[in-house]
Amino acid sequence: MKTYETVIGLEVHVELATKTKIFCGCTTAFGGAPNTHICPVCTGMPGSLPVLNKKVVEYAMAAGLACGCEITRKTKFDRKNYFYPDLPKAYQVSQLYLPICRNGKIEIETAAGKKTVGIHEIHMEEDAGKLVHDDWDDCTLIDYNRCGVPLIEIVSDPDMRSAEEVIAYLEKLRLILKYVGVSDCKMQEGSLRADVNLSIREVGSTEFGTRTEMKNLNSFKAIARAIEGERKRQIEVLEYGKKVIQETRRWDDNKDTSFAMRTKEDAMDYRYFPEPDLVPVVISEEWISSIKEKEPELRDAKIKRYQTEYEIPAYDAGILTASKRMADLFEETIAICQKPKEVSNWLMVEAMRLLKETEQEADELMLSAKKLAELIEMIDSGKINRTVGKEVFEHIFKEDADPLEYVKKNGLLMEQDDGRLKEVIRIVIQSNPQSVSDYHSGKQKAIGYLIGQTMSLLHGKADPSKVRSMMEAEL
Ligand code: ADP
Ligand code: MG
Ligand code: ZN
Repeated sequence: MKTYETVIGLEVHVELATKTKIFCGCTTAFGGAPNTHICPVCTGMPGSLPVLNKKVVEYAMAAGLACGCEITRKTKFDRKNYFYPDLPKAYQVSQLYLPICRNGKIEIETAAGKKTVGIHEIHMEEDAGKLVHDDWDDCTLIDYNRCGVPLIEIVSDPDMRSAEEVIAYLEKLRLILKYVGVSDCKMQEGSLRADVNLSIREVGSTEFGTRTEMKNLNSFKAIARAIEGERKRQIEVLEYGKKVIQETRRWDDNKDTSFAMRTKEDAMDYRYFPEPDLVPVVISEEWISSIKEKEPELRDAKIKRYQTEYEIPAYDAGILTASKRMADLFEETIAICQKPKEVSNWLMVEAMRLLKETEQEADELMLSAKKLAELIEMIDSGKINRTVGKEVFEHIFKEDADPLEYVKKNGLLMEQDDGRLKEVIRIVIQSNPQSVSDYHSGKQKAIGYLIGQTMSLLHGKADPSKVRSMMEAEL
């Protein structure tokens, strides 16, 4: 058998986090009773006219700039005509000729090293409604709530060669978009959807093979399986001396194979033409710079700053910034308690452990910065010890407990009264003469036992180093 190389390019649709839709004032909120987030414009009633949402243009620009794209100074919309019941107008307002962003790139990193994936373009368009098949009544229902929700489509160059690179690209892209704040990128709610274009060619060949496009991929795992399945299928087709047909295929993750949906349309099948109801958008240099200025600090910059400003090791900085939520929490807590290393420790060890235990993503972290800072202060000032601290942290994490209240209610405050401490130490010394004489005859270790007895009488609520020094004094 010949050796083949896989060539992959992605088209990623991302729902923008604007409050209202792209051409009307309806809400973009996810869910809601079917057909309650609609109006004549987004349901394509005859005679209604679209008005472009400025925020959509700004979010598209912000996404493009963060991906190193050039911004098209005069951009316009085009109609992509097709009939399907999820699209009441029978055309989708999209961009073909003058997409808002072009020529970007994203750096990815895999086990094989660093690599750049080109961004061919990013264009703006409107989302379509949702068809819901009702098996009971054997009919198809339509929910237009999603109709007119703003999307950007990010089209990559065919630069990826493996599922690993594709996942790295998607993860990087998702992180950038979340940091910039233009989308929540929730795959399970469909706010980030990837179509995979895949072809194979013999290693060494300079020409691309014929590609297929796979849709209906709603998780990274499904994408990885689809790539593997389609790669094998195409190799088989070629090995049998047949040709790969350019078509759209639907990946069925349960059956672990893809099915032909339709032969791939060319642009001309959509009879694209300039959208006559919308004026072209002229983007000034000032507008671009004002968006650029507002760009929040991105992950790579944060990783560098955490190392220099907070002396956090590169590895830890990588973990803290792997989710924007975690990075925000880290910085908010430091702003209150000024103890970067302590904050990093709690997040890296305890927060990560509890996220895993409760099967949550770092993005879902609900921990309050104020309460974490309070906990750190309590340990620092000797009100509680570290072991108690861990217990308190767990309760802040899980039920947003108030640290001081929790500690008081459960009697976990440390023995602050030196008189009481001394009293307990004396009792321990009196009741353990053997250990005391061991200590005096040079067995340093014996003091450990005495400290242990003291801690246990105090139910662990004392500072062990303080107990040690007082014990030494008493002995
Ligand atoms: P269309 O206009 O038909 O959608 P494009 O040229 O815009 O096609 O490409 C769509 C996507 O397919 C892009 O992400 C691109 O990188 C990818 N692509 C194009 N040619 C190939 C190929 N031969 N193999 C794999 N992916 C490809
Ligand atoms: Mg395309
Ligand atoms: Zn509407």
